[in-house]
Amino acid sequence: MSTKAMEQTNNIKKDNDKNKIFMWKNKRVSEKIYNLRVKQSNIGKKNKSRKSLEVEPTKHVVEGIRHVDFKFMLEKMYCEFCNYKLSLDNIEEESRRGLGSFLFIRCEYCLHISRVPTSRYQGGLKNPIFDINSKCALGAIHTGLGHTQVHKFLSILDVPKFTRSLFKKHERIVGKAIEAVAKESCNEAAAQDSES
Ligand SMILES: [Zn+2]
Repeated sequence: MSTKAMEQTNNIKKDNDKNKIFMWKNKRVSEKIYNLRVKQSNIGKKNKSRKSLEVEPTKHVVEGIRHVDFKFMLEKMYCEFCNYKLSLDNIEEESRRGLGSFLFIRCEYCLHISRVPTSRYQGGLKNPIFDINSKCALGAIHTGLGHTQVHKFLSILDVPKFTRSLFKKHERIVGKAIEAVAKESCNEAAAQDSES
């Protein structure tokens, strides 16, 4: 956009009747909305330098293949501050946990950075447990794979590294669940035996 066009975009203009016309992003808005947008934009600019998010982001560009739950993610693709639709073009950082990620996306409208998860997770933002990681560990247990095999398999697919410690953590989570189910079915079988 040319400088002249930019000037016309967000300016307060005066028409022939000398009434003020408020323009924001090429749209005529009320004075109240104009002032609100200016305020939001200023807050967004302030947030640009602020690292307020609880999860420590790993500083690398989003490259390679990711596991994404599109339906889930699209529902989260709105600015946390002004609810404006977010764009994948504006990803600034990624915090990855195995096969799940948080994408840090800047709002085009107010410049606030929102955190968008790529799939469902349990627990808080400081220590999120992505369901996909537990499913991966479950799949590995069922097929008799260890971390090394899973890691090799994923790297051929160009999926980033799933650390050994995180993999083991999910193996433990899934292992406990398998144990509980096995115990329950044992108890049920015992109960049926005593009834018959
Ligand atoms: Zn926004």
